Amino acid sequence: MSDKTIEFIEKGRRLDGRKLDELRPIKIEVGVLKRANGSCYMESGGNKVMAAVYGPREVHPRRMEDATKAIVRCRYNMASFSVEDRKRPGPDRRSVEISKVSREAIEPIIIKEHFPRSAIDIFIEILQADAGTRTAGINAASVALADAGIPMRGLVSACATGKVGGHIVLDLMKEEDNYGEADVPIAMDVQNDKVTLLQMDGRLTQDEFKQALELARKGCKEIYEMQRQALIAKYTV
Ligand code: UDP
Repeated sequence: MSDKTIEFIEKGRRLDGRKLDELRPIKIEVGVLKRANGSCYMESGGNKVMAAVYGPREVHPRRMEDATKAIVRCRYNMASFSVEDRKRPGPDRRSVEISKVSREAIEPIIIKEHFPRSAIDIFIEILQADAGTRTAGINAASVALADAGIPMRGLVSACATGKVGGHIVLDLMKEEDNYGEADVPIAMDVQNDKVTLLQMDGRLTQDEFKQALELARKGCKEIYEMQRQALIAKYTV
């Protein structure tokens, strides 16, 4: 956090020319991996993300089975070449945390009771990172689950809001994430208007938080529509 932020917004435009409430360009491709039951490649600004879903399938190790419902496992991994300074390969505290919160963001929409004693495994691979990788990963995973034909209550859509140069903005890019006053990633089941992920790094007043939440709701609705269209495009003959 630093006071460098002031120069990040000029005449209502951000460094990359976006308005305060504008998402970065998004591209979604459904069903890109042959061996996965469902997959999705997604670009969101400078983020490039692959999500793959395997299952429902047998649980290994067996002791993890649940006789009443499927278990959901999620692994978020950032490739060592995805960031400016090479990232040390393998899990670290950050990726363990993001794997956990991503699973918790996605799990509520899956109708797990349909698949007792089975596992649904979600892999999120970040190929290129530019801030907002956890939300991009959740968006891709949600589409990959639908592509795998997993019964769901809806889709989960996610984006970050935050505060940069004293303004509440949507979908922070790298510089805004690094030097902004707050970063608030949010995931929602848009159809049922339920928040499934809410984190906050930095500080907001109560009013600013309300404003950020509203902006995230708008962003998630736009993303939901793009996810839906990508699935329709794939499955309409
Ligand atoms: N980042 C990085 N190296 C790391 C972790 C993160 O360069 O080891 C960058 C990357 O661009 C990432 C951004 O910092 O997208 C913000 O990371 P954060 O932990 O806030 O998660 P994210 O916004 O990606 O969900």
